[in-house]
Amino acid sequence: MRTDVAIVGAGPAGAWAAYTLARRGARVTIFDPSHPREKPCGGGVTGRALALVADAIGRTQCPQRVIRSARFIDANGGDARIDLEFDRVGADLRVRPDSPTNHASLIVASRAVFDAALLDAARRAGASVSGSRVTNVTVDADGARIDTAGGTHRAGVVIGADGANSLVRRKIVQPFPRRLLSIATGFFAHGVTSDEVVIELVADPAGYLWSFPRPDHLAIGVCAQADAGIAPAALREQAREWTGRMHLAEDARLEPYSWPIPSLDARAFDTLALASDRWALAGDAAGLVDPITREGIYFALLSGQWAAEAVADGRFPRDYTARVRDEIAPELACAARFKAGFFRPAFMRLLVHALQRSATVREILVDLVAGRQSYLSLKWRLLKTLEIGLAWKMARG
Ligand SMILES: Cc1cc2nc3c(=O)[nH]c(=O)nc-3n(C[C@H](O)[C@H](O)[C@H](O)COP(=O)(O)OP(=O)(O)OC[C@H]3O[C@@H](n4cnc5c(N)ncnc54)[C@H](O)[C@@H]3O)c2cc1C
Repeated sequence: MRTDVAIVGAGPAGAWAAYTLARRGARVTIFDPSHPREKPCGGGVTGRALALVADAIGRTQCPQRVIRSARFIDANGGDARIDLEFDRVGADLRVRPDSPTNHASLIVASRAVFDAALLDAARRAGASVSGSRVTNVTVDADGARIDTAGGTHRAGVVIGADGANSLVRRKIVQPFPRRLLSIATGFFAHGVTSDEVVIELVADPAGYLWSFPRPDHLAIGVCAQADAGIAPAALREQAREWTGRMHLAEDARLEPYSWPIPSLDARAFDTLALASDRWALAGDAAGLVDPITREGIYFALLSGQWAAEAVADGRFPRDYTARVRDEIAPELACAARFKAGFFRPAFMRLLVHALQRSATVREILVDLVAGRQSYLSLKWRLLKTLEIGLAWKMARG
């Protein structure tokens, strides 16, 4: 069978690309054997990500936790809480168009439910969904050949939206080297929840421990660069010790997980492998994750949408690569450059201290959490608040 577009992977990037293409009248088949499934993930969906998909999945019941506050702790026990302004959207993902920010700053959803809602929207828009695992992909001048256990499929273009371990990436480009991956590990703590995100910034390994409350459990974790020399078991022990120390999940059943996240450096963002005449990579498969916050859902949705729009408009691959290179890569490269400075103990102390005393710095962090504040202008906005020390440290980062 031949279609216009084959999509490998039905996470946010693939399902949203399929939805966008099917709505534009393309014949599209999406392959993924995993649904229904929970993906190891915080499940934090920022306001900007929610705004992209809310209309499409608004009619689907998608239980979520609207986050009211975020608590930041530094390595010395300094503690600051920020309130995240939000519009109550109930159990429905519909966004209130009249609100000043147009969305909640942050919701947390189970990925089993969120991803299923996106895939369902794609199916309703007319995409064909195959539950087969793709075992091989090749491209030539005529298009793409997609092999599955169930048979062979041909398409004009293949979009690899198959995550950090992308088969499409491995077959057509090359896998990510270890130094461009981080490993996230931790627990789903079943039977407890909250409406507060808790984040402890740690210097070793550079990063943070987190607790993200979902409707009926907490996603607790920690992550480190894959080449940092720390075994996943040691990282998980760190998450377990923190969970106990913070009294986050007493009597809860802990279900362990471990998963890679692309964490590219600035140079890798400048030289992204995104697309050629017959293939494209989107989302994690393309490496589009914020290397500081590890927000990836928004970039997965946006890149999937842009790849689909370029195909539907007959301006593929040029428009897709240009948009990602111009509008996503510079921002993520800037985050990658800030990263070392961001997790330095002196900066973290300063940040938590500034959050304790400055309403303006708290506002800026709310915007950062919601995805309304770019890294490119963060330094200048902090400078304007006269939190010179903070901005200066960031500038040196
Ligand atoms: C622990 C952890 C916490 C995170 N927390 C957050 C967070 O709070 N907020 C946020 O925005 N981001 C977070 N991220 C990042 C986020 O999970 C990813 O960036 C996002 O899921 C990327 O979406 P995607 O569609 O590109 O890939 P994925 O969501 O990984 O989907 C890929 C899909 O491809 C399928 N697939 C793989 N191989 C094949 C194959 N051969 N054939 C067919 N199908 C295949 C898989 O089954 C999967 O369904 C976190 C990541 C981790 C690991």
